[in-house]
Amino acid sequence: MSSICPICKKPTVFEYRPFCSKRCADIDLARWFRGDYKIPGEEEEKEEENTEEE
Ligand SMILES: [Zn+2]
Repeated sequence: MSSICPICKKPTVFEYRPFCSKRCADIDLARWFRGDYKIPGEEEEKEEENTEEE
């Protein structure tokens, strides 16, 4: 079973699945940190529990 690297569309390498190389894995990770990826249906609702006043 082979798949395609989501970053550069090359065949993936087992060692770096689901990417083709560490470089692409790093790119994907960087996108994550920049917030390019957003999970649909999951709005930001964390650490806002004590918003209500007394
Ligand atoms: Zn790649």
